[in-house]
Amino acid sequence: MAAEKNIPYKIYLEENEMPTTWYNVRADMKNKPAPLLNPGTHEPMTAQELSGVFCDELVKQELDNDTRYYPIPEEIRNFYKMYRPSPLVRAYCLEKALDTPAKIYYKFEGNNTSGSHKLNSAIAQAYYARQQDLKGVTTETGAGQWGTALSMACSYFGLDCKVFMVKVSYEQKPFRREVMRTYGASVVPSPSDTTNVGRKILEQFPGTTGSLGCAISEAVEVAVSNPGYRYVLGSVLNQVLLHQSVIGVESKIAMDKYGITPDIIIGCAGGGSNLGGLIAPFMGEKLRGEKDYRIIAVEPASCPSFTRGKYAYDFCDTGMVCPLAKMYTLGSGFIPAPNHAGGLRYHGMSSILSQLYDDGYMEARSVEQTSVFAAAEQFARVEGILPAPESSHAIRVAIDEALKCKETGEEKTILFGLTGTGYFDLVAYEKYHDGLMTDYIPTDEELQKGFDGLPRM
Ligand SMILES: *Cc1c(COP(=O)(O)O)cnc(C)c1O
Repeated sequence: MAAEKNIPYKIYLEENEMPTTWYNVRADMKNKPAPLLNPGTHEPMTAQELSGVFCDELVKQELDNDTRYYPIPEEIRNFYKMYRPSPLVRAYCLEKALDTPAKIYYKFEGNNTSGSHKLNSAIAQAYYARQQDLKGVTTETGAGQWGTALSMACSYFGLDCKVFMVKVSYEQKPFRREVMRTYGASVVPSPSDTTNVGRKILEQFPGTTGSLGCAISEAVEVAVSNPGYRYVLGSVLNQVLLHQSVIGVESKIAMDKYGITPDIIIGCAGGGSNLGGLIAPFMGEKLRGEKDYRIIAVEPASCPSFTRGKYAYDFCDTGMVCPLAKMYTLGSGFIPAPNHAGGLRYHGMSSILSQLYDDGYMEARSVEQTSVFAAAEQFARVEGILPAPESSHAIRVAIDEALKCKETGEEKTILFGLTGTGYFDLVAYEKYHDGLMTDYIPTDEELQKGFDGLPRM
């Protein structure tokens, strides 16, 4: 108890305490995540097939289920030093406001210009592209955090960066677009007439406002048809979870320093990268039977891949050019209702997290967006930070769990991931404040349409 008193509001690490390795949780999984499959032959993708799409080192990381620790190259560690360690904050003010005996901690990843954790993987992916002497990379972005992170990373390493931005975001989030252009990226609204797949989609669905799945298809096409280019993705993939493990490794070092052990670890889940990163070292202990933690993935009720999806092989993109991944999915044709404002709209989920969830190592919960924004506002008013809507899914469940502790009198320790800031999401906040935000939960029939589009294996 005495030690508890000395826990500062913010726990930082000294430079010499910072992680020097990423942790690959697959090494400790008994049931490994299912391999990516060739969409034509349904055979596991080989390194050679993948090397047309991704950088060689990233292919290696993607396929490596065995190496437990990856040294973080020095140049990446130097870049990390500009904005890491990210603070681990004891939410004393929130605890007081909730009048809960629970101890709440959050790991805040919004302290960089991209405003989210995505920079942790962007800088790694750009580094390996530079190592391979590539000219540039292509990618997709929805709300724009990933595109921003990647443009920052590419400008740092002198790489060309082409971003396909979902058209509706391109039009509604011009500021995000200008940040990317400031870092030298070229930003194209998707679907566009600059690719075959884009032209095909435009012909089939004139006036479409685009989707992530569609932007992915365009970005992949440009990467594979231009020498010296590769495609990079900001979530879902094993390699991205590996890089994001820096979040969890830092958290663990900071908590160990003060003798803190979380009982419950909570994160929002879109494609699964921040959650996979945050929980990685804790999950490792759980998998090895050393410790037990409750781990909760939080997703929007309007895009409920874990809680209502199917665990099956699916397409990762609309154009069906990407490898098939086995994951909890709503089907690649699923598009969340237009009133959905809170991000986390990808139809599928990381294969690693899908396997861990299927094996019972973690729980999942879905929450409705008005309750997410209520939590966001409550948090902002006492902790100061304006949270991203995505992050606020985790805040919602952290608050709910803290309130349960109030009822039972249990002094549980809760750790949640605060993935980013919400300055570019003020239109959604406006809707919430004006009482115009609604909740939408897809019906079973609507979900069935998405499942009908799953590939037959
Ligand atoms: C992209 C993003 C997410 C969701 O992506 P994951 O891969 O599931 O982590 C969550 N929060 C913020 C702020 C994001 O930018």
